[in-house]
Amino acid sequence: MVAERIGAEGSTFGLSGNVSERDAGDPGAFWITPSGVAWPEIRRAHLVQLAVSSGAVQQGTLRPSTEWRMHRALYERHPWIGGVVHLHSPYATILSVIHEPVRAVHYQMARVGNEVPVVPYATYGTEELAQLVRDAIQPEQRAVLLANHGLVAVGSSAADAYRASQEVEWTARIQYHAMLAGSPRVLTPAQLDAVRAAFKDYGQAWQPPDDADRSPAGEP
Ligand code: 13P
Ligand code: ZN
Repeated sequence: MVAERIGAEGSTFGLSGNVSERDAGDPGAFWITPSGVAWPEIRRAHLVQLAVSSGAVQQGTLRPSTEWRMHRALYERHPWIGGVVHLHSPYATILSVIHEPVRAVHYQMARVGNEVPVVPYATYGTEELAQLVRDAIQPEQRAVLLANHGLVAVGSSAADAYRASQEVEWTARIQYHAMLAGSPRVLTPAQLDAVRAAFKDYGQAWQPPDDADRSPAGEP
């Protein structure tokens, strides 16, 4: 379960952040982490199932994440999204505070997009924030920074979205230090296209595709 990894790896501050996954058997539903429960305490039984169309709670007894509107809006608008991760990870949050996009200072971020833009500030948990994020995400734009808040990444599953979030956080860390050391040089869209073409053949033939690590019940 990705929620357990987020806790074990200390990927976000305190109670912050949330993760969801579209239900494996019902694309009209998604599972999301509960609000305000410390990551190491989260168990499968704490997850809450919501309807994509209305956001109505369908299963679970705890209150869902306050960011359920953002997750819901992403699943509704983008049928290709199978998982969503939101974190207050330190370096992505630093760049969000100075309204600086994560730029392509390293080829590793090619999978996520040509850059990770900053969406304007809106209060956490609001429909306003949900719509800003929903409108900024595209198949070629798999992560955004939330101004003065953190990051959101999406993918084919919760695990895939988490991988994207970690690529953003790592690149933000490199960019932050590079900005202190000098003027980072940014890769061009053509250079990133070449990386994306090379990535198609990266790794081992036996590696499972992204979707293979989707948990059977669609549990984040
Ligand atoms: P929840 O604990 O309600 O998921 O909220 C955390 C958060 O990061 C809000 O933006
Ligand atoms: Zn947050």
